Amino acid sequence: MKTNAKHKSKKFYATVQNTAQNCSKGQLIIYQVYKTIKQFFPDLFERLGQLPDCRERKEYNIAELVIGGRKEYNIAELVIGGIAMFLFKEGSRNAMNNDRKETKFSKNYIRLFKLKLPHMDTVDELFRVLNEHELEAIKAALVIGLIEQKVLRKFKFLGKSYIIAIDGTGIASFDYRHCDACQTKTSKNGVITYFHNVLEAKLVTSTGLSISLATEWISNEGKTEYEKQDCELKAFKRLAEKIKKYFPRLPILIAADGLYPNQSFFEICKNKDWNFVVTFQDKSLKSIQEEITWLKNKPDGKRIIVRTEKHIRITLTYTFINDIQYKEYNLSWVECIEDRINSNTGETEQKRFVHISDIRLDADTAVKISDAGRLRWNIENEGFNTQKNGGYALEHKFSRISFLAMKNYYQCLQIAHTINQLVLKSQCINCLFDSDGKFTIVKLWQRLMSFLIECDISENQLLVIDNLQFQIRLT
Ligand SMILES: [Zn+2]
Repeated sequence: MKTNAKHKSKKFYATVQNTAQNCSKGQLIIYQVYKTIKQFFPDLFERLGQLPDCRERKEYNIAELVIGGRKEYNIAELVIGGIAMFLFKEGSRNAMNNDRKETKFSKNYIRLFKLKLPHMDTVDELFRVLNEHELEAIKAALVIGLIEQKVLRKFKFLGKSYIIAIDGTGIASFDYRHCDACQTKTSKNGVITYFHNVLEAKLVTSTGLSISLATEWISNEGKTEYEKQDCELKAFKRLAEKIKKYFPRLPILIAADGLYPNQSFFEICKNKDWNFVVTFQDKSLKSIQEEITWLKNKPDGKRIIVRTEKHIRITLTYTFINDIQYKEYNLSWVECIEDRINSNTGETEQKRFVHISDIRLDADTAVKISDAGRLRWNIENEGFNTQKNGGYALEHKFSRISFLAMKNYYQCLQIAHTINQLVLKSQCINCLFDSDGKFTIVKLWQRLMSFLIECDISENQLLVIDNLQFQIRLT
């Protein structure tokens, strides 16, 4: 985002700012998106501009045939087109193209991004040839930027490491072979389904942020039909390499589900110098289950915390054990029993959460490691659920024919979702949501789109943002 003019009077800025303070919710959020990109991702456009223009490379013959001859858009314009489709929660390429025909939308888009608005078919042509690692590297660089700006510092575990949740989810399924990399499953009556799953590493926080760090596709690429299919645990090995490559010195606490307590996982974490907290199911690692059953009667410690939320009294009973030997690993174990009593209805509910970790526990860290283990749920709720059902259309088939394009759309979605999460966590937007829940995120995005289609983004207001010092505060 370039600055158009620099020498304006203080009075000019004050007048524009006063106007902005009275602006509608749609207007408010669009300026907040602009501010968020400017403050947290100031080099996004520059990075996109430096992407190799694969449309010119000889190996991409198809690309040359299709789009090589007419390069009316530069690469940054095309990628921002893809990211904007998710920022605005358009839901499909077609919906974005329809809005593109609206004069005001098109004009506002150009004012906002200072870039041309491409037709989404042209974006798709690029995404079918753009190397999947390019956008992944940009996504990683954006997260590194956030970390360097210390935006996420207050969420560090024990003030030291970031909690990185690992989880997989389904992205697309077909009743025909979609590409060579499709995974397959055959039902009892012989019907074959072709599908694509993804494994994610996301930085999660107690305030509900779930920011994609790295992505690994679970894929049969390069395998013959006789070879064993790829699986989540194999994909984790590759994902771990990727995290280490992009974030070599980042202090990490890996939070993973009940699939992960095994020697291979412990070894990866140890080699990468990461701590971990993993959900521990009753059937996991039988050799240490017996030890735990015995030691549970004389644990290293217990702690009880009682709190009240509205009319519900919550009692959390933490029990922990240290020095559990499993091969060459020294593990700790923590159980949290959560009892909820509704003082109005008398209803009771009990839940049990069990985790193992390589961190030595005391009465304080036992509570923190158990809570960190439970934060893993954010990757499912804020991460996948919001991306599937909160307007991002994660499961929509943005490309029916190209696996590579599917991967590139996926990265655009992750970048857009990170930006939008920071927008929503800013104090000025967060305060729009009253405790009665009547004003929702869905309504806010409807206002945003109405504004873009029916009103005008003020160039003066953007100029004020470009030239004045501001600091977005996150809740
Ligand atoms: Zn496929």
